[in-house]
Amino acid sequence: MASFYPKKRILLGPGPSDVSQRVLDALARDTIGHLDPCFVEFMEDTKDLLRKTFLTKNKMTFPLSAPGSAAMEMALVNLLEENDKIVICINGVFGKRMLDIANRIKAKPIALDFEWGKEIDPNVLRETLKKEKDVKAVALVHAETSTGVLSDAKNLAQIAKEFGCLSIVDTVTSLGGIELKVDEWELDVVYSGTQKCLSAPPGLAPITFSDNAIESIQKRKSPCPSWFLDLNLLLTYWNGDGGRSYHHTAPINNLYGLHESLLQLHDEGLENSWIKHTKIHNYFKNEMAKIGLEFFVRDGVRLPNLNAIRRPEKIDDAKFRSSLLNQHNIEIGAGLGPMAGKIWRIGLMGTSATKTNVDEFVKAFKIITE
Ligand code: PLP
Repeated sequence: MASFYPKKRILLGPGPSDVSQRVLDALARDTIGHLDPCFVEFMEDTKDLLRKTFLTKNKMTFPLSAPGSAAMEMALVNLLEENDKIVICINGVFGKRMLDIANRIKAKPIALDFEWGKEIDPNVLRETLKKEKDVKAVALVHAETSTGVLSDAKNLAQIAKEFGCLSIVDTVTSLGGIELKVDEWELDVVYSGTQKCLSAPPGLAPITFSDNAIESIQKRKSPCPSWFLDLNLLLTYWNGDGGRSYHHTAPINNLYGLHESLLQLHDEGLENSWIKHTKIHNYFKNEMAKIGLEFFVRDGVRLPNLNAIRRPEKIDDAKFRSSLLNQHNIEIGAGLGPMAGKIWRIGLMGTSATKTNVDEFVKAFKIITE
């Protein structure tokens, strides 16, 4: 038995992305108690940084001590009670995951299925909400990581609002890398992950709740069926109104990492980061054209930071990705579900979004395939 030293990789998959030395150094700082007054102060700072990143004034903005899927579950288990109607827009794996959760908590989900690789159609949502009565919420994925598609969260949430519904928006792959304005777009429950454009290690999930969402949660007739994810209980730890009481032991060092990654993002500037992701995507697009690789998603709704590329038929999927990893230390993602074997998912997120990384991928691609 020996200590584990991971290999040095270039992370160009769907997450995690590369973590900078600055963030790695922060993770290695002394562990202190999670109720230590100086840690409590640090928590307030972290919440402020998250508000600056989500572009919200929502008081209830904090990092959940769990990955993005838990934040998805938190949004749904707190907003919904048994038999509550929710429209779930599905154009990939993560919309489907929302549906699975809604079914497990015995809500009444109305699934709107869209072709994988296409964006969510606002007209379909509008027509559905015209027909269906008493829908409590609309859930959607802003940036569908399984297919590389961007949907118009602003417009879709606005339609939900017109019909008196709350919006739940998954921004796991968009936060920090793509325009997202929680307050301006009037989104209600928005969650993300740390391992994509924030370039912090996985395991935490920033989440924010609007006042309307809080009001709806406070009107629940039944208690939230999950103890750990019950917003009301969790707020005794995260709410910031004076004293804090024990809920669970926070992942102290992981929170140092998130905090540092947010400082790093805001040193760069949030909008500059959005612009950077687009610029690197355009560079990548040109390079792909040169080596004859095609995008799966049409221009206009392509995610700049998660590129779904059609696998050329003559290239063996598993062998290619394995050579890329083992000989060139580059990780890319395979297709998920129905997209398995059909696409590669190449992430250019946060610290990983550099021209050098694009060049490294192109160089390795040529060596492996020539
Ligand atoms: N939602 C989206 C859009 C994702 O891309 C992911 C993960 O890739 C998740 C949710 C789940 O996040 P996690 O893997 O951190 O649980």
